[in-house]
Amino acid sequence: MNEVAEYLERLRNRLDAGVLLVAVSKRQPIEKLFSAYEAGQRDFGENKVQELVEKQPQMSSDVRWHMIGHLQTNKVKYIAPFIHLIHSVDSLKLLKEVDKRARQNDRVIGVLLQMSIAQESTKTGMDESLLEEILQRSDQGEWPNINIQGLMGMATNTPDEDQIRKEFRDLNRMFQDMRKAGFDLGILSMGMSGDLQIAQEEGSTMVRVGTAAFGPRNY
Ligand SMILES: *Cc1c(COP(=O)(O)O)cnc(C)c1O
Repeated sequence: MNEVAEYLERLRNRLDAGVLLVAVSKRQPIEKLFSAYEAGQRDFGENKVQELVEKQPQMSSDVRWHMIGHLQTNKVKYIAPFIHLIHSVDSLKLLKEVDKRARQNDRVIGVLLQMSIAQESTKTGMDESLLEEILQRSDQGEWPNINIQGLMGMATNTPDEDQIRKEFRDLNRMFQDMRKAGFDLGILSMGMSGDLQIAQEEGSTMVRVGTAAFGPRNY
């Protein structure tokens, strides 16, 4: 078995049933993505439009590409033809742009709404009042070319596990509140290499894992 296949096998053994693995391949050479594909991986995550656009044509067409990083409105058009799920929709302006570009491509694009849960101001996201407003407007048919499937959040980068747990629990509470209010959300994207276990204990359904899937990144 090659190194990536070994990483993936170890990682899959750590996943709870029903949790989907998005293998975060940012700053990894394409050969490692080929190895992961051969080992059965189909969901890949990138955080830069440029890298997505370079890697997508080199991989099989049955790969599901996830945009997980901050997305600038003026770059949506480059990924709209192929992106499977955008985890990082953090504003109304971006959401409208995704809907517009999806329509131009005759597609419906899946999106997650990124919620602000961390203490760090560098991590963007929306608050609960905007979340509810967007879900209501979406249900009324305002953006027919996007499908809002769930929520995403990133915990504070801290060794304090209680803090991380509290933030994930808060995100799951928002997710459950919206479900109880009748919105059809199925995906809770939370957890990376360092906080995977806590995220799963707090109800994650989708984890975005880079270094524990591929090994250290190139900088
Ligand atoms: C890089 C990245 C990850 C994966 O990080 P690892 O620590 O390598 O698992 C997850 N989510 C986002 C948004 C990222 O940018």
